[in-house]
Amino acid sequence: MKGIRAILAEVFKPGLCVGCGGCVGLCPYISFYDGKVIYTDECTRDEGRCYEVCPRIQCSIGQVDEEPIGPYLAILRSRARNTEIRQTTQYGGTITALILLALKEGLIKKAVLTSDDSQGAPSGVIAQTEEEVMACSGSRYVGAGSLEAFNRAVKEETIPCGIVGLPCQAESLRSMQASPLSHPQHKDSVTIVLGLFCTWSLDYRSLNRFLKEKNLKTPIIKYDIPPPPANVFQVTTRDKETIEFPLDDIRSFVMPGCAFCRDMTAEKADLSVGTVEGMEEWNTLIIRTKIGQELLELADKKGVLELEQLPRSNLEHLKEASLAKRRRKPH
Ligand SMILES: Cc1cc2nc3c(=O)[nH]c(=O)nc-3n(C[C@H](O)[C@H](O)[C@H](O)COP(=O)(O)OP(=O)(O)OC[C@H]3O[C@@H](n4cnc5c(N)ncnc54)[C@H](O)[C@@H]3O)c2cc1C
Repeated sequence: MKGIRAILAEVFKPGLCVGCGGCVGLCPYISFYDGKVIYTDECTRDEGRCYEVCPRIQCSIGQVDEEPIGPYLAILRSRARNTEIRQTTQYGGTITALILLALKEGLIKKAVLTSDDSQGAPSGVIAQTEEEVMACSGSRYVGAGSLEAFNRAVKEETIPCGIVGLPCQAESLRSMQASPLSHPQHKDSVTIVLGLFCTWSLDYRSLNRFLKEKNLKTPIIKYDIPPPPANVFQVTTRDKETIEFPLDDIRSFVMPGCAFCRDMTAEKADLSVGTVEGMEEWNTLIIRTKIGQELLELADKKGVLELEQLPRSNLEHLKEASLAKRRRKPH
């Protein structure tokens, strides 16, 4: 086992940290500041939980000959029945609706989410009320260090948590659960993991500088990357104006560490959620575990989600896109 010196050499110094936040707050030496995970003081330990939970090191996903979207029980398309939820969420509002349900039914006591950019860099949030969950809806296409909020939430005791995160964050949580160095409250508090599809994520500081140069003021109320062939990055301002930039304008802000990720569909999550190409108000929903299936059955019973078959052409295309990420070579 290794510790901070190895993480510095293998991840931080080569610029491969993707800002998942899994290591942030596990010790006094690693923090999250202005969109970046930073090392703040000398640590002399030979082994550490930081190394154990880093998804750039403990990466177990992505052989090209495996099922391209990982193990699953079923795949559907879904959306929140509540149209108010759908109006403020990214696509169908599946994530927000499921988190609200899990809190309401007492399955979880806290939800670990990601803030918008109204207070600066998006970051981890511990949400317990409907208002707090709704305020986190939407996608910020940047590494937001959100797992820091999980480490904060369970610092003293085991608390059932629902965690929403990117594939790297789902991987980090599973490593945390598996590591002999983890504290029991970290292992036992991971109650349900809702994963987001992700091709890559951007460096917050570079994106923020770009938006400022374009005279766009934060908070931005919606970011979107419509599916190909659109090839654009969309930004919707508070005045409800949507501005499009060629994807090539922001491509250089993609975090270098994302090039090593082979997981597009959050394979380590209980439920994985993404877009449905050509159907903006729906989500693709992959049910992966019994825990995920039980939450979905409850959502169906309580009338929280509309659930339908995912058209075959969408499933085939999803598998192609996922395989393309598997085959991607780091540059
Ligand atoms: C970095 C990034 C890359 C993405 N790439 C793809 C992709 O390649 N293909 C695809 O189909 N979809 C992609 N998505 C979008 C993803 O499909 C949607 O987030 C998902 O479908 C959920 O939709 P929803 O309507 O249920 O969202 P909502 O109900 O609005 O919920 C969205 C949730 O996302 C969380 N969140 C927002 N930003 C972040 C972040 N930076 N890190 C962690 N959590 C966050 C919020 O806490 C919120 O709970 C990406 C999203 C992100 C953040």
